[in-house]
Amino acid sequence: MLRIGLTGGMGAGKSTVARILADLGAVIVDSDLIAREVVAPGTEGLAALVDAFGAEILAADGSLDRPALAAKAFADDESRATLNSITHPLVGKRTTELISAAPSDAIVVQDIPLLVENGLAPLMNLVIVVDVDAETRLRRLVEFRGVAESDARARIAAQATDEQRRAVADVLLDNSGAPAAIEGTVRQLWRERLVPFEHNLRTRTPARRTTEIRVEPANPDWAAQAQRLIARLWVACGAGASRIDHIGSTSVPDLPAKDVIDLQITVADLAAADGLRDALGAAGFPVRPEITQDNPRPTPQDPAGIDVSLWTKRFHNNADPGRLANVHVRVDGSPGQEFALLFRDWLRADADARAEYVEVKRAAEAKAAGLTGAAATIAYLDVKEPWFTAVYPRMLAWRDS
Ligand code: ADP
Repeated sequence: MLRIGLTGGMGAGKSTVARILADLGAVIVDSDLIAREVVAPGTEGLAALVDAFGAEILAADGSLDRPALAAKAFADDESRATLNSITHPLVGKRTTELISAAPSDAIVVQDIPLLVENGLAPLMNLVIVVDVDAETRLRRLVEFRGVAESDARARIAAQATDEQRRAVADVLLDNSGAPAAIEGTVRQLWRERLVPFEHNLRTRTPARRTTEIRVEPANPDWAAQAQRLIARLWVACGAGASRIDHIGSTSVPDLPAKDVIDLQITVADLAAADGLRDALGAAGFPVRPEITQDNPRPTPQDPAGIDVSLWTKRFHNNADPGRLANVHVRVDGSPGQEFALLFRDWLRADADARAEYVEVKRAAEAKAAGLTGAAATIAYLDVKEPWFTAVYPRMLAWRDS
């Protein structure tokens, strides 16, 4: 099951996007709807609210009188906490029920207006943010949904900012154009990314590059993309990891690179790495069991650079075809783990090293031209690996200085 978080400011068009996704076959779990359901007449939720706040919160027909409840529950922090202690567990329980009832191959879309405010992004396989500037949202709310302008302004001001929402967006859907425009974008997203992502997740299939290797201009968004993946990896690893880092070329600002995010999970030992295998697979980062080591290099511990066991690691990819990633799981203090961090820090610090590395990348790219798959990777690494080995002493000298 693929779990998608859908959010956006009030009036951005979440419901509109949710309807399109539902038409395409997604299972929609609507948190506003659930929040209403759990306090509908006859529910234990409504009874608990009456116990806590009195029968004055009921309308004449026995349903919840929301303004009356708000007057009491938002009067002070303690009342607000009481309200939340009643409704939040019920909403959580119902949400879990609905998600567990979905088929195992479902694409579940959770429509959560307060996803950012409640820090839920790392629990999702992917977050879609519907993005429209606040003034347009306001106009739509007033025009199409009949909300009073002052009310809409106050509610928009109380929510997360557009910037905060964009920071968690794996997919940013611009809904400032005509409704038909977003429909086309959502259909394409469904077909090209969500459906294959769900398939890959369920079958533990790593998403791989299918085209030639291309060294691309640095993308200023790589750092944020890596942080979103790292937040998910932490949820999967918990105490099984001691640190998780963005490494490799995409972690060095302004460095051209292949559009693949490299991440490193540091673990205590190989048993811990193997212990994370299933949790990472379930979180959308399936293992590549055939990859078990880095190329050995000469190190102070092993000057000949022949002890393969020092360089053992585990390797996973992202299942999301829209965001290729390599996840290296390495043992704390092993030469490969230290090399990755040192290489990144050295490149970040040394402009000459960066320039030299770009030259090597260009040569490697040329060597791999016309090839795809494993053959391309081998040709590419054939050029890069000797350079890594050659610069290792320089990196160590830089560290020691
Ligand atoms: P949300 O669920 O994010 O609060 P809605 O999906 O209800 O927002 O959209 C707010 C209003 O704007 C609705 O009346 C909807 O029909 C309208 N709307 C949505 N997308 C567009 C668009 N691209 N152009 C014009 N109006 C839109």
